[in-house]
Amino acid sequence: MERKPIAIVGAGPTGAMLGLLLAERGIPVVVIEASRNFRRVFRGEGLMPSGLEALAQMGLLPLLTEASNPVPNQPIGSWDFVIEGRSIFSVDEPMGNDRPCTLVAQPQLLEAVIDRAKACANFRFISGETVQSLAWEDCATSEPPELEAGGGSARISGCILSSGETLETSLVIGCDGRTSTVRKLADLSLDESSKPFNILWFKLPDTDRLPASNPFTVFVKGDAVFSVFRSSEGLIQVGWTVQNDDWKGVTDWSETLAAASPPWLAEYFRSQEIVETIADRPVLLTVTVGYATHWSRPGCLLLGDAAHPMSPIRAQGINMGLRDAIVATNHLVQAWNSGIQDSRDLDQAAVQIQADREPEIRRIQALQAQEAADGAKLHHSAALRAVIKALAPAIGIGLKQKWLWRQRELRSGIAVVKLES
Ligand SMILES: Cc1cc2nc3c(=O)[nH]c(=O)nc-3n(C[C@H](O)[C@H](O)[C@H](O)COP(=O)(O)OP(=O)(O)OC[C@H]3O[C@@H](n4cnc5c(N)ncnc54)[C@H](O)[C@@H]3O)c2cc1C
Repeated sequence: MERKPIAIVGAGPTGAMLGLLLAERGIPVVVIEASRNFRRVFRGEGLMPSGLEALAQMGLLPLLTEASNPVPNQPIGSWDFVIEGRSIFSVDEPMGNDRPCTLVAQPQLLEAVIDRAKACANFRFISGETVQSLAWEDCATSEPPELEAGGGSARISGCILSSGETLETSLVIGCDGRTSTVRKLADLSLDESSKPFNILWFKLPDTDRLPASNPFTVFVKGDAVFSVFRSSEGLIQVGWTVQNDDWKGVTDWSETLAAASPPWLAEYFRSQEIVETIADRPVLLTVTVGYATHWSRPGCLLLGDAAHPMSPIRAQGINMGLRDAIVATNHLVQAWNSGIQDSRDLDQAAVQIQADREPEIRRIQALQAQEAADGAKLHHSAALRAVIKALAPAIGIGLKQKWLWRQRELRSGIAVVKLES
């Protein structure tokens, strides 16, 4: 009996990689991506050693070093913390790992991955369309039968696209990011672990004032908390954590950033080039952090940010998404090959995928929350900032050790994740 394809909704890092891995293993796959191209306004791009290792296992790491047209990338040289203008500590990459944290241009990476998948006859890519609703087996309506009210065994049998096309599926996998439509349509609820917060992103012209080694520097001064680094494509990236609505009244970002920066960086923010380019409004991004209690119900599975929206702190979300894709591939391929007659084997695999991934995701989100809590303490206490600044030579080493301890798991993950075949 010919089996219906697996539909993957969303070709961000999680969905694109999963689509490629399943297609390469002979499973019929349809990937549906809302945007017409991958160059949407913003995609995070920091890959930790765990994410780079995942790319290596998928055979994709050479894309970063190809002689012609490599995917743009930029290693980070160090992590530096500057409080009230004083350097508190600095840690050089790769911090004991084989590879340094590296910024990798997501649009080019995703394009290359989808192009590679298209070489498989069993792969179909639909772009510029969204999933609008889900179809349920033996059910005329697209309303989800309530999980808690005994509707948990009703099976999702397909999805309906914005074009009106209905795809009949063996499984729908929602990889459609933190505001996941699939999650909502399948009535899988999200526990939000903290209030959403906002970040303003600026992409500015490069400068030799930022060392070629590309330090990732976090600045805390008064009300200002922001980071500066060179992006994969060699632009200066500034991420400004929005604390309240005051930013809406800022008319001169060049001066606002300069006032919170040490002299070498302030000079850059006040230069004519920046005064002219910064006039464009920065991009405002809302960060949601949470965890879906159930990642699946019959016929449907969530992965990546759709299942567990990640904070941007210490660049974790892409890495976790890639590791989800590997674990999901291992389980789904095994279920596909053994369950020739029955799609319900895929449902059991989906439950097992969450069970395997849950400990790592919970732990990484807890570590991110600890980093956020430390940041909030600093931000809210001028006295704490003053003490740290004054005592930096004496306590800097202790603060660095504490920070380093947390980074081990944030850089490598806590689970063994190996692509089986
Ligand atoms: C400000 C900020 C900075 C970050 N920086 C980093 C970083 O440096 N490193 C890191 O690892 N993580 C970072 N993250 C987190 C990271 O961006 C996410 O965790 C990661 O992108 C999740 O990948 P994903 O594939 O699961 O979802 P996404 O990357 O969100 O991809 C989802 C895809 O689904 C598509 N889609 C959405 N709805 C539909 C629909 N209905 N139908 C079809 N397609 C749909 C979207 O167009 C999109 O392409 C950052 C997050 C933020 C907010």
